[in-house]
Amino acid sequence: TTSEYQALDAAHHIHAFLDQKALNEKGALVIAKGQGLDLWDTDGRRYLDGMSGLWCTALGYGRADLNAAATRQLEELPYYNLFFHTTHPRVIELSELLFSLLPEHYSHAIYTNSGSEANEALIRTVRRYWQVLGKPQKKIMIGRWNGYHGSTLGSTALGGMGFMHEMGGMLPDFAHIGEPYWYAHGGDLSPEAFALQAADELERKILELGAENVAAFVAEPFQGAGGMIFPPEGYWARIQSICRKYDVLLCADEVIGGFGRTGEWFAHQHFGFQPDTLTIAKGLTSGYIPMGGLVLSKRMAEVLVEQGGLFAHGLTYSGHPVAAAVAIANLKALRDERIIERVKQDSGPYLQKALREVFADHPLVGEIQGAGLVAALQFAEDKASRKRFANEDEIAWRCRCIGFDNGLIIRSTLGRMIMAPALVASHAELDELVDKTRQAVDQTAREIGR
Ligand code: PLP
Repeated sequence: TTSEYQALDAAHHIHAFLDQKALNEKGALVIAKGQGLDLWDTDGRRYLDGMSGLWCTALGYGRADLNAAATRQLEELPYYNLFFHTTHPRVIELSELLFSLLPEHYSHAIYTNSGSEANEALIRTVRRYWQVLGKPQKKIMIGRWNGYHGSTLGSTALGGMGFMHEMGGMLPDFAHIGEPYWYAHGGDLSPEAFALQAADELERKILELGAENVAAFVAEPFQGAGGMIFPPEGYWARIQSICRKYDVLLCADEVIGGFGRTGEWFAHQHFGFQPDTLTIAKGLTSGYIPMGGLVLSKRMAEVLVEQGGLFAHGLTYSGHPVAAAVAIANLKALRDERIIERVKQDSGPYLQKALREVFADHPLVGEIQGAGLVAALQFAEDKASRKRFANEDEIAWRCRCIGFDNGLIIRSTLGRMIMAPALVASHAELDELVDKTRQAVDQTAREIGR
């Protein structure tokens, strides 16, 4: 029964990023089944998944082709590795397909099981790259405050979540600059002027640390877990020119933005810049099986392959055949069913327009951001002055809980409500998402007397 599951869950699990005791008192929601954008709990209640699981189920739940690909591979070759001068057909076929979808600029991949591991691979590969080029002192990685790159030690240090650093997550050779969050930090500046100011902080940081010591700047093209923040126009062009000027690698964490979220295959294409590396995971397999990876530019790969010799880095499950088989089926579906084109031309504009129609004049909503099938609503105490609530986290969490109680899975972070439905969402499903979000925001507004 549900209560038995909840008791056993409480007895054995430490959940991610939650107050365990408070969760145990309430009992975790036990999700048992999924199809399309729908989830069902163990009591048979239906939920509309407005978050694609954890930003990952691009194709929705229950795809028979992904299941069949995994099953076939489990029968044919359930495991092999890339260690003993060995490789296998699935990982090769996956890379052929992946690089046919990526801009020509990129040529090589190192596969992992997760986004966190992909960022660990990034940290080590970037250090190796500069070492091979005879600049071993160039090893400081600059990230952004409130950026999220994973929960392993290196990816935590690269990320800028202060509350994660509090338990000793900060390591030497990592530094951070501010996030391009105009609504909170833009003051009297226009978004465009703020974008340049926020980007110029990178130049100041590089000069402060010494360009000869700085290996890379790493950021999410749009910040996901740290509030779904889209940088204003001009930000990425300025960041790119600063990186080029000081010979600092530009690394995009595409774990959330990759594979169609914004309506382009990769979020850096939406913002029009060209990173040296891409970190990928989540949408690579639609979350059906764990897989991530680090994608390298031709220039970096050439240095590592031609001059690098042995690179002491590898995982037992790197390029796992079953994960690779699922990734191939997933990428073929995204490509052949023209799902990302549809996000760009149809479902994305449909969602963005509906949100603006419903929330532009809402007393609680100060800003609506997003593109394609990702969006955020910023709660505001005073819309004219962009004043935020002192307890905005609490208010947004309350809104998220109202949504859950009403059969809508939506996320709150830092006073912002976030949605990222599966890329296959129909108009009817997007209507339901917007409508249930409106109900949750309205009730939140009533509860706080707005
Ligand atoms: N990078 C970004 C941008 C993420 O959002 C996440 C996870 O949410 C990660 C990295 C870490 O990925 P994983 O949870 O697969 O380790």
